[in-house]
Amino acid sequence: MKRDPKRILIKFSGEALAGDDGFGINTKILKFLADEIKSVIKEGFEVAIVIGGGNFIRGVSAAKDGIIKRTSGDYMGMLATVINAVAMQEALENDGVGVRVQSAIKMEEIAENFIVRRAIRHLEKGRVVIFAAGTGNPFFTTDTAGVLRASEIGASAIIKATKVDGIYDKDPAKYEDAKLLKEISYEDALKDNIKVMDDTAIALARENKLPIIVCNMFKKGNLLKILKNDPDAKYSIVK
Ligand code: UDP
Repeated sequence: MKRDPKRILIKFSGEALAGDDGFGINTKILKFLADEIKSVIKEGFEVAIVIGGGNFIRGVSAAKDGIIKRTSGDYMGMLATVINAVAMQEALENDGVGVRVQSAIKMEEIAENFIVRRAIRHLEKGRVVIFAAGTGNPFFTTDTAGVLRASEIGASAIIKATKVDGIYDKDPAKYEDAKLLKEISYEDALKDNIKVMDDTAIALARENKLPIIVCNMFKKGNLLKILKNDPDAKYSIVK
């Protein structure tokens, strides 16, 4: 599919929506993120979103003691992403931004079904589309869902929203001279000490030549700076 330079997909972890305790949803954070997205939409960018569910539950941890099966735990995780998607939909609507949630698992009272052509139409109309329920399959992550959906809608990049400026050559918390890497290869991103996303997600991005932008989503105005190629913008790009 042809890439649209104005179309991006932002991937948030579930924890990004939580407060300091890492659990649940903090509406102040939700509002901050909605404002950031609104500023980007106003500049004519088309924005799709994938949110994780780790602020509620993850399949692997739910299945840790063997009482809950991994597959069921994964479905529980996918349901958690729907809770986050509905919350983000509210925050964007509250900001006056048009938005639709599309779910990979049918939940017709809550969200539209995932239909790629329909998603693209929403984006073209300036609406944000939030893809919920991951890929709809157990044993995957929302990082992989993000790369998958970004590829399907012809996004120019996936933005992995983090709390750091990007990828460093060594741990910036330990080393003062740690350098932010502007650009790294998919191969390097797959190395254990870097791992910006899980292997499946990075491999899929490599196969589809989808750039991964790693940046700090929690600095006001940073997202827009990056998209507008501001020379002051800090980020790392995997390509
Ligand atoms: N999940 C899944 N299939 C998918 C996406 C997610 O089974 O396609 C489940 C999986 O259990 C995962 C949980 O949903 O742990 C929440 O997603 P993720 O861990 O990616 O969330 P994040 O870490 O980004 O908050």
